[in-house]
Amino acid sequence: MGMLDFKEIPQANNANGNQDTFELFAREVLNMLGFEILVNPDRGQDGGRDLIIEEKRIGLLNDTKVRWLVSCKHKVHSGGSVIVNDEEDIADRVLANNCNGFIGFYSTVVSSPLNRKLESLKEKFEVQTFDNEKIEGLLLMNERGKDLIKRFFPKSYQRLDDKAPSNLLNKYMPLKCACCGKDLLKRDLLEDYAGVIVFVEESGLNKGFTADFEKTKIVDIYWACKGTCDDKLTQYYINQGYVNGWEDISDIIIPYKYLQWIMSIFNRIRDEDDIYTDVAFEKLKNFIIAVSQIVFKNQSKEDIRRIMDLNSLPDWM
Ligand SMILES: [Zn+2]
Repeated sequence: MGMLDFKEIPQANNANGNQDTFELFAREVLNMLGFEILVNPDRGQDGGRDLIIEEKRIGLLNDTKVRWLVSCKHKVHSGGSVIVNDEEDIADRVLANNCNGFIGFYSTVVSSPLNRKLESLKEKFEVQTFDNEKIEGLLLMNERGKDLIKRFFPKSYQRLDDKAPSNLLNKYMPLKCACCGKDLLKRDLLEDYAGVIVFVEESGLNKGFTADFEKTKIVDIYWACKGTCDDKLTQYYINQGYVNGWEDISDIIIPYKYLQWIMSIFNRIRDEDDIYTDVAFEKLKNFIIAVSQIVFKNQSKEDIRRIMDLNSLPDWM
Protein backbone atom coordinates (compact mmCIF):
# COMPACT_ATOMS: atom_id res chain seq x y z
CA MET A 1 0.00 0.00 0.00
CA GLY A 2 1.11 3.52 -0.70
CA MET A 3 0.86 6.48 1.64
CA LEU A 4 -2.84 6.96 0.95
CA ASP A 5 -5.46 4.29 1.59
CA PHE A 6 -8.01 4.62 -1.20
CA LYS A 7 -10.43 2.47 0.78
CA GLU A 8 -11.09 5.57 2.85
CA ILE A 9 -13.18 6.78 -0.08
CA PRO A 10 -16.52 4.93 0.23
CA GLN A 11 -17.39 2.28 -2.28
CA ALA A 12 -19.29 3.33 -5.39
CA ASN A 13 -22.80 2.06 -6.20
CA ASN A 14 -23.85 1.90 -2.58
CA ALA A 15 -27.29 3.29 -1.94
CA ASN A 16 -26.06 5.13 1.16
CA GLY A 17 -25.73 8.53 -0.39
CA ASN A 18 -21.99 8.16 -0.74
CA GLN A 19 -22.00 6.71 -4.24
CA ASP A 20 -20.63 9.86 -5.75
CA THR A 21 -17.69 10.38 -3.43
CA PHE A 22 -15.07 8.95 -5.77
CA GLU A 23 -16.43 11.02 -8.67
CA LEU A 24 -16.43 14.08 -6.46
CA PHE A 25 -12.85 13.26 -5.53
CA ALA A 26 -11.93 12.93 -9.23
CA ARG A 27 -13.47 16.34 -9.94
CA GLU A 28 -11.49 17.94 -7.12
CA VAL A 29 -8.20 16.37 -8.21
CA LEU A 30 -8.67 17.32 -11.87
CA ASN A 31 -9.73 20.80 -10.87
CA MET A 32 -6.58 21.08 -8.74
CA LEU A 33 -4.54 20.17 -11.83
CA GLY A 34 -6.09 23.05 -13.76
CA PHE A 35 -8.84 21.34 -15.74
CA GLU A 36 -12.18 23.05 -15.98
CA ILE A 37 -15.09 20.80 -15.05
CA LEU A 38 -17.81 21.13 -17.68
CA VAL A 39 -20.50 18.52 -17.15
CA ASN A 40 -21.52 15.37 -15.39
CA PRO A 41 -23.36 13.37 -18.09
CA ASP A 42 -26.15 11.01 -17.14
CA ARG A 43 -25.56 7.97 -15.05
CA GLY A 44 -24.62 4.98 -17.20
CA GLN A 45 -25.86 1.42 -16.91
CA ASP A 46 -23.11 0.44 -14.50
CA GLY A 47 -24.07 3.28 -12.17
CA GLY A 48 -20.87 5.10 -13.08
CA ARG A 49 -20.97 8.56 -14.53
CA ASP A 50 -18.50 10.08 -16.88
CA LEU A 51 -17.22 13.60 -16.45
CA ILE A 52 -16.39 16.05 -19.17
CA ILE A 53 -13.55 18.41 -18.48
CA GLU A 54 -11.64 20.95 -20.52
CA GLU A 55 -7.95 21.64 -20.68
CA LYS A 56 -6.68 24.93 -21.99
CA ARG A 57 -3.32 24.70 -23.73
CA ILE A 58 -1.43 27.90 -24.22
CA GLY A 59 0.16 27.96 -27.68
CA LEU A 60 2.64 30.28 -29.32
CA LEU A 61 0.08 31.59 -31.80
CA ASN A 62 -3.19 30.76 -30.20
CA ASP A 63 -4.60 28.73 -27.34
CA THR A 64 -6.31 25.42 -27.90
CA LYS A 65 -8.83 23.58 -25.82
CA VAL A 66 -8.90 19.84 -25.31
CA ARG A 67 -12.18 18.31 -24.22
CA TRP A 68 -11.64 15.18 -22.17
CA LEU A 69 -14.07 12.44 -21.25
CA VAL A 70 -13.24 11.17 -17.76
CA SER A 71 -14.27 7.70 -16.66
CA CYS A 72 -14.05 7.03 -12.90
CA LYS A 73 -13.71 3.48 -11.57
CA HIS A 74 -13.41 2.92 -7.84
CA LYS A 75 -12.53 -0.77 -7.56
CA VAL A 76 -10.22 -0.69 -4.57
CA HIS A 77 -12.88 -2.20 -2.29
CA SER A 78 -13.23 -5.27 -4.48
CA GLY A 79 -9.47 -5.32 -4.91
CA GLY A 80 -9.43 -5.78 -8.66
CA SER A 81 -7.67 -3.95 -11.44
CA VAL A 82 -9.72 -2.09 -14.05
CA ILE A 83 -10.39 -4.53 -16.90
CA VAL A 84 -11.61 -4.26 -20.49
CA ASN A 85 -15.20 -5.10 -19.47
CA ASP A 86 -15.22 -2.14 -17.07
CA GLU A 87 -14.60 0.24 -19.96
CA GLU A 88 -16.97 -0.52 -22.80
CA ASP A 89 -17.30 1.54 -25.98
CA ILE A 90 -14.64 4.04 -25.06
CA ALA A 91 -14.37 5.44 -28.58
CA ASP A 92 -18.17 5.77 -28.90
CA ARG A 93 -18.45 7.57 -25.57
CA VAL A 94 -15.68 9.96 -26.53
CA LEU A 95 -17.30 10.70 -29.87
CA ALA A 96 -20.86 10.98 -28.51
CA ASN A 97 -19.70 13.65 -26.08
CA ASN A 98 -17.69 15.62 -28.65
CA CYS A 99 -14.50 14.98 -26.79
CA ASN A 100 -10.96 14.65 -28.13
CA GLY A 101 -9.42 12.81 -25.25
CA PHE A 102 -10.09 10.07 -22.74
CA ILE A 103 -8.98 9.95 -19.11
CA GLY A 104 -9.32 6.86 -16.98
CA PHE A 105 -9.41 7.87 -13.31
CA TYR A 106 -8.98 4.76 -11.19
CA SER A 107 -8.37 3.81 -7.56
CA THR A 108 -6.56 0.63 -8.64
CA VAL A 109 -4.19 -0.32 -11.47
CA VAL A 110 -5.12 -0.94 -15.09
CA SER A 111 -5.05 -4.55 -16.31
CA SER A 112 -2.66 -5.35 -19.15
CA PRO A 113 -5.42 -6.07 -21.73
CA LEU A 114 -7.12 -2.75 -20.97
CA ASN A 115 -3.77 -1.05 -21.14
CA ARG A 116 -3.19 -2.50 -24.62
CA LYS A 117 -6.66 -1.38 -25.68
CA LEU A 118 -6.01 2.15 -24.41
CA GLU A 119 -2.66 2.22 -26.20
CA SER A 120 -4.35 1.30 -29.48
CA LEU A 121 -6.92 4.06 -29.00
CA LYS A 122 -4.11 6.62 -28.88
CA GLU A 123 -4.13 6.52 -32.69
CA LYS A 124 -7.62 8.09 -32.64
CA PHE A 125 -7.45 10.50 -29.69
CA GLU A 126 -5.42 11.34 -26.63
CA VAL A 127 -5.56 8.89 -23.75
CA GLN A 128 -4.36 9.35 -20.18
CA THR A 129 -4.73 7.14 -17.14
CA PHE A 130 -4.56 8.14 -13.50
CA ASP A 131 -4.17 5.10 -11.29
CA ASN A 132 -3.89 5.11 -7.48
CA GLU A 133 -0.13 5.55 -7.54
CA LYS A 134 -0.20 8.46 -9.96
CA ILE A 135 -3.04 10.18 -8.09
CA GLU A 136 -1.18 9.77 -4.81
CA GLY A 137 1.98 11.28 -6.29
CA LEU A 138 0.05 14.27 -7.64
CA LEU A 139 -1.66 14.88 -4.30
CA LEU A 140 1.57 14.66 -2.33
CA MET A 141 3.43 16.98 -4.69
CA ASN A 142 0.76 19.61 -4.99
CA GLU A 143 0.24 22.34 -2.39
CA ARG A 144 -3.55 22.06 -2.71
CA GLY A 145 -3.24 18.28 -2.55
CA LYS A 146 -2.79 18.47 1.20
CA ASP A 147 -6.32 19.82 1.63
CA LEU A 148 -7.74 17.05 -0.53
CA ILE A 149 -5.83 14.40 1.42
CA LYS A 150 -7.22 15.85 4.64
CA ARG A 151 -10.76 15.79 3.25
CA PHE A 152 -10.86 12.44 1.44
CA PHE A 153 -8.22 10.45 3.37
CA PRO A 154 -8.54 11.66 6.98
CA LYS A 155 -6.82 8.58 8.46
CA SER A 156 -3.95 8.65 5.98
CA TYR A 157 -3.64 12.37 6.64
CA GLN A 158 -3.16 11.67 10.34
CA ARG A 159 -0.36 9.26 9.49
CA LEU A 160 1.31 11.78 7.18
CA ASP A 161 1.02 14.64 9.65
CA ASP A 162 4.57 15.13 10.90
CA LYS A 163 3.48 16.83 14.13
CA ALA A 164 0.96 14.17 15.10
CA PRO A 165 2.05 11.91 17.97
CA SER A 166 3.40 8.54 16.86
CA ASN A 167 2.40 5.20 18.38
CA LEU A 168 5.59 5.14 20.47
CA LEU A 169 3.69 4.45 23.69
CA ASN A 170 0.68 2.17 23.81
CA LYS A 171 -1.22 5.01 25.41
CA TYR A 172 -0.66 8.64 24.42
CA MET A 173 1.13 10.66 27.12
CA PRO A 174 0.22 14.36 27.16
CA LEU A 175 2.66 17.05 28.27
CA LYS A 176 0.53 19.12 30.61
CA CYS A 177 1.35 22.72 31.47
CA ALA A 178 2.42 22.83 35.14
CA CYS A 179 0.13 25.80 35.66
CA CYS A 180 -3.07 25.37 33.64
CA GLY A 181 -2.88 21.71 32.59
CA LYS A 182 -3.16 22.33 28.83
CA ASP A 183 -1.47 19.68 26.65
CA LEU A 184 1.59 21.42 25.21
CA LEU A 185 2.00 18.76 22.50
CA LYS A 186 -1.21 19.84 20.75
CA ARG A 187 -0.43 20.68 17.14
CA ASP A 188 -1.55 24.33 17.26
CA LEU A 189 0.45 25.00 20.43
CA LEU A 190 3.56 23.45 18.87
CA GLU A 191 3.12 25.54 15.75
CA ASP A 192 2.69 28.72 17.80
CA TYR A 193 5.80 28.08 19.91
CA ALA A 194 3.49 28.28 22.89
CA GLY A 195 5.34 26.06 25.36
CA VAL A 196 8.66 26.07 27.20
CA ILE A 197 10.61 23.64 29.35
CA VAL A 198 12.23 25.41 32.27
CA PHE A 199 15.20 24.28 34.34
CA VAL A 200 15.13 25.69 37.87
CA GLU A 201 18.73 26.15 38.89
CA GLU A 202 20.45 26.95 42.12
CA SER A 203 22.45 30.12 41.82
CA GLY A 204 25.07 31.82 43.99
CA LEU A 205 22.31 34.14 45.22
CA ASN A 206 20.60 31.29 46.95
CA LYS A 207 21.35 31.51 50.65
CA GLY A 208 21.61 27.74 50.93
CA PHE A 209 24.28 27.68 48.25
CA THR A 210 27.34 25.69 49.23
CA ALA A 211 28.40 23.84 46.07
CA ASP A 212 31.37 24.42 43.81
CA PHE A 213 30.89 27.55 41.64
CA GLU A 214 31.53 25.61 38.42
CA LYS A 215 28.59 23.35 38.94
CA THR A 216 24.93 23.96 38.36
CA LYS A 217 22.39 22.22 40.51
CA ILE A 218 19.10 21.62 38.76
CA VAL A 219 16.58 21.47 41.56
CA ASP A 220 13.42 21.16 39.49
CA ILE A 221 12.12 21.12 35.93
CA TYR A 222 8.70 22.16 34.67
CA TRP A 223 6.96 22.84 31.37
CA ALA A 224 4.36 25.50 30.86
CA CYS A 225 2.63 27.85 28.43
CA LYS A 226 4.72 30.90 27.58
CA GLY A 227 3.30 34.06 29.13
CA THR A 228 1.00 34.03 32.15
CA CYS A 229 1.56 30.40 33.17
CA ASP A 230 5.35 30.53 32.87
CA ASP A 231 5.51 33.99 34.50
CA LYS A 232 3.66 32.76 37.60
CA LEU A 233 5.97 29.77 38.01
CA THR A 234 9.10 31.78 37.29
CA GLN A 235 8.10 34.32 39.94
CA TYR A 236 7.51 31.51 42.42
CA TYR A 237 11.04 30.16 41.95
CA ILE A 238 12.74 33.57 41.74
CA ASN A 239 11.19 34.44 45.08
CA GLN A 240 12.97 31.41 46.49
CA GLY A 241 16.27 32.59 45.04
CA TYR A 242 16.52 30.26 42.04
CA VAL A 243 17.37 31.15 38.44
CA ASN A 244 15.72 29.72 35.35
CA GLY A 245 17.07 28.34 32.09
CA TRP A 246 14.51 27.63 29.39
CA GLU A 247 14.09 26.13 25.93
CA ASP A 248 11.23 26.25 23.39
CA ILE A 249 9.43 22.90 23.19
CA SER A 250 8.73 23.61 19.50
CA ASP A 251 12.49 23.73 18.88
CA ILE A 252 13.14 20.51 20.78
CA ILE A 253 10.71 18.58 18.56
CA ILE A 254 12.90 19.34 15.51
CA PRO A 255 14.78 16.00 15.19
CA TYR A 256 18.25 17.56 14.83
CA LYS A 257 17.64 19.96 17.69
CA TYR A 258 16.18 17.16 19.83
CA LEU A 259 19.33 15.07 19.47
CA GLN A 260 21.62 18.05 20.00
CA TRP A 261 19.72 19.06 23.13
CA ILE A 262 19.85 15.55 24.64
CA MET A 263 23.56 15.19 23.77
CA SER A 264 24.37 18.45 25.51
CA ILE A 265 22.51 17.24 28.62
CA PHE A 266 24.51 13.98 28.47
CA ASN A 267 27.76 15.87 28.15
CA ARG A 268 27.03 18.19 31.03
CA ILE A 269 26.13 15.26 33.28
CA ARG A 270 29.25 13.34 32.16
CA ASP A 271 31.48 16.36 32.79
CA GLU A 272 29.76 16.86 36.13
CA ASP A 273 28.75 20.39 35.17
CA ASP A 274 25.15 19.68 36.08
CA ILE A 275 23.80 17.94 39.11
CA TYR A 276 20.16 16.92 39.13
CA THR A 277 17.92 16.39 42.12
CA ASP A 278 15.89 13.17 41.92
CA VAL A 279 12.73 15.15 41.20
CA ALA A 280 14.34 17.12 38.37
CA PHE A 281 15.91 14.03 36.80
CA GLU A 282 12.62 12.12 36.88
CA LYS A 283 10.85 15.04 35.21
CA LEU A 284 13.58 15.32 32.58
CA LYS A 285 13.05 11.67 31.64
CA ASN A 286 9.29 12.12 31.47
CA PHE A 287 9.71 15.15 29.28
CA ILE A 288 12.00 13.29 26.86
CA ILE A 289 9.54 10.38 26.65
CA ALA A 290 6.60 12.71 25.98
CA VAL A 291 8.28 14.78 23.25
CA SER A 292 9.66 11.61 21.65
CA GLN A 293 6.07 10.81 20.67
CA ILE A 294 6.26 13.79 18.32
CA VAL A 295 9.87 13.35 17.18
CA PHE A 296 9.83 9.62 16.42
CA LYS A 297 8.30 7.90 13.43
CA ASN A 298 5.43 5.47 13.83
CA GLN A 299 6.36 1.91 14.71
CA SER A 300 5.32 -0.71 12.19
CA LYS A 301 3.18 -3.72 13.06
CA GLU A 302 6.37 -5.82 12.98
CA ASP A 303 8.10 -3.44 15.42
CA ILE A 304 5.19 -3.67 17.85
CA ARG A 305 5.06 -7.47 17.57
CA ARG A 306 8.80 -7.60 18.33
CA ILE A 307 8.44 -5.35 21.38
CA MET A 308 5.66 -7.56 22.69
CA ASP A 309 7.84 -10.65 22.18
CA LEU A 310 10.76 -9.04 23.99
CA ASN A 311 8.60 -7.80 26.83
CA SER A 312 7.07 -11.21 27.34
CA LEU A 313 10.48 -12.70 28.12
CA PRO A 314 11.19 -13.14 31.83
CA ASP A 315 13.38 -10.40 33.31
CA TRP A 316 16.34 -12.69 34.02
CA MET A 317 16.78 -13.63 30.35
ZN1 LIG B 1 -0.61 26.90 30.82
